Amino acid sequence: MPNVKQIEELKNILLDRKKKLLLSISNNRDNIDLLKEQDIRDDLDYAEVISDSFTEGMIVNHHSKELNEIDLALKKMNEGTYGICDMCSVVIPIGRLRAKPFAKYCTECRSVFEKEENKKLK
Ligand SMILES: [Zn+2]
Repeated sequence: MPNVKQIEELKNILLDRKKKLLLSISNNRDNIDLLKEQDIRDDLDYAEVISDSFTEGMIVNHHSKELNEIDLALKKMNEGTYGICDMCSVVIPIGRLRAKPFAKYCTECRSVFEKEENKKLK
């Protein structure tokens, strides 16, 4: 398990990341609204607006997902279950947590999980 000092350090990283994500999401939402308010003069403009708002929407979705994972990790820090793999209950190495502070799985379970996810997509 990561020690108190390490958790504190990772918590700061997560909180910092959370702040940035929230800011970026609200900026993107503003952009989407702006794009929708724009006068569409011709088909070309329209295509441009659609693809722009699609990209912005994708970014918002991606960031919201990451935000959920960060909240989950922060909750686990409070509960004292942070740094334990959700699948096999093994302690996730600190190196992995440093690289990805909201990691839910150890490296092995992560690759199993990703294989399963890929299967679902096919
Ligand atoms: Zn595991």
